Amino acid sequence: MMDFLPIFLNVKGKLCLVVGGGEVAARKAGVLLDAGAKVRVVAPQIKGSLLAQQGVESIVARFDALHLEGIALVIAATDDRSINQQVSEQAHARNIPVNVVDDPELCSFIMPAILDRSPLMVAFSSGGASPVLTRMMRGMLESMIPQNYSRLAAFAERFRQQVKQRVTNPAKRRIFWENALEGVVAEKVLTGDENSAEAMLQKMLEDEDNIQRGEVYLVGAGPGDPDLLTFRALRLMQKADVVVYDNLVSKPIVEMTRRDAERIFVGKKRADHTLRQEEINALLVRLAKDGKRVLRLKGGDPFIFGRGGEEIETLAAEGIPFQVVPGITAASGVASYAGIPLTHRDYAQSCMFVTGHLKDGTMNLDWAALARPKQTVVVYMGLHGLDTLCAQLIAHGMPETTPIAIVQQGTTRNQRVFTGTLHTLPGIAKREQPQAPTLIIIGGVVKLREKLQWFHPQGDE
Ligand code: SAH
Repeated sequence: MMDFLPIFLNVKGKLCLVVGGGEVAARKAGVLLDAGAKVRVVAPQIKGSLLAQQGVESIVARFDALHLEGIALVIAATDDRSINQQVSEQAHARNIPVNVVDDPELCSFIMPAILDRSPLMVAFSSGGASPVLTRMMRGMLESMIPQNYSRLAAFAERFRQQVKQRVTNPAKRRIFWENALEGVVAEKVLTGDENSAEAMLQKMLEDEDNIQRGEVYLVGAGPGDPDLLTFRALRLMQKADVVVYDNLVSKPIVEMTRRDAERIFVGKKRADHTLRQEEINALLVRLAKDGKRVLRLKGGDPFIFGRGGEEIETLAAEGIPFQVVPGITAASGVASYAGIPLTHRDYAQSCMFVTGHLKDGTMNLDWAALARPKQTVVVYMGLHGLDTLCAQLIAHGMPETTPIAIVQQGTTRNQRVFTGTLHTLPGIAKREQPQAPTLIIIGGVVKLREKLQWFHPQGDE
C-alpha cells in the first residue's frame, strides 16, 4: 500500500502561506514561487533575503489563525514545535493542505524531492524513511535523465498537434513518436541542434507511410571499466534491439545492454580479419534494414584504430541513419589507471598514438619520428612486434634506457603493468607473458608511475 497519493498541484496565482522566517522557510517559499504561487510569509523575524523576493507578502508577527484567510496551502517551517502544531491543527480544521517540515505526523501532505526538467518533472520520496536514500536516488535519476530532456519534452510539445493531424492512426503515431524521441531526432535536440531535428521530423512526417525504425549506433564502450562509459553510450545501450560486439568489449559492459536485446558476438582475432570486417558491415546493414535499432559496441573509441570509419561508410552508402558516440580510448583510460600521465611539462610535449599492426601484417612505422625526444608514444596492438619496436627505436637514436611500459587489460580488475627500458622490456615480456589486450607506452612519463601509482586504486606490482 502507498503511504501517500502522489499528485502535482496547480498553485499558479494561488496564495500560499509559509510560517517561519529562516533559511528553510526561504527555501520553501522559493519552491512555491517557482511553481507560480503567491506567497505570504508570517514570522516575528523574517530573513532579509525572503523579504526581498518578488511576489512575497510578509507579515512580521506571530502566527495567528487569521493568517489562514484565503490560503490554498500551508507550509510550517519554524523551529518551534508548538507553533508548528498550532499551524497544523488550524489548517486541518479548515481543510487546508498543510506540510510541517521534518514532522510527518503533523502533515496532511509531504513535499517530494524533485528533478526538474520542465515540462518534464520527476517527484520522488522515501516518505521520510531515509533522506540519504532519497539523495542517492536523485543522483541515479540525474544521470538517467539528461538535463536537456526538458528541451526534448518542449520539442515534442511543439509538434504534437501537427503530428496528430498528419499521422491519424494511433498505433502508428506511437511508433512515430518512439522513433523520433529515441532516435536521431532526439539526439539532435539533446545536442542543441533543434533546426536539424525539426528538418528530420518534417521529413519523417512526409514519409510516414513507410515508418521504419532501423538505425545504427556506433558506440565507444571505453577500455573496460563500465564506469568509463558515457551517459550517451548508456542511453543507447538501453534502447537497442540488437547488440553487435567483439572481444574488446568487456563482459560487464555487454551485461549492461538492454536485457531483452539480441546479442551477436563478432569476435575478431589479431591477423586475418579483412573478410570478417566486410561481413560485419553487411550484418549491420541487414539488421538496420530489418527495422532494428542496432548497437555496434566497440572497445575504446570507435574512431581510434576501431575501423569505425569503414563501418559507417557502408551505412552511409546504404542510406541508413547512424550516429557515432565517442568513448575513452585505451591510451587515455589505461594511462590514467596505470598512473602514467601522457603529457607532462618536464617529459613530453606531445603524444602519438600509433598501431603496431598494419594491414599487411608488417610493422612499418616512421621510426625517426617516433624516436624524437620529449614525446610519449602509445602503441596499440603492438605486443606482437615488441622486439622490432624496441630494436628500431634504439637504431633510430632513442636511448636504450628510455622507460617503457606494457599495460595488460587496463582499467579492469586484471590490469597489470610491466615496466622496463627499451633494452630490458622484451625480455620481461617473454618471461611474464602479458595477456591481451595490451597497450605499450614509451617515454619519460612512464617513470612518473613510481611516484603516482600508489594514489590509484588499481595500482599493482
Ligand atoms: N578503438 C580502441 C582500440 C582498438 S585496437 C580504442 O580506442 O581503445 C585494439 C587495441 O587497443 C588492443 O590491441 C590494445 O592495444 C588496445 N586496448 C584496448 N583496450 C585495452 C585495454 N583495456 N588495455 C590495454 N590495451 C587495450
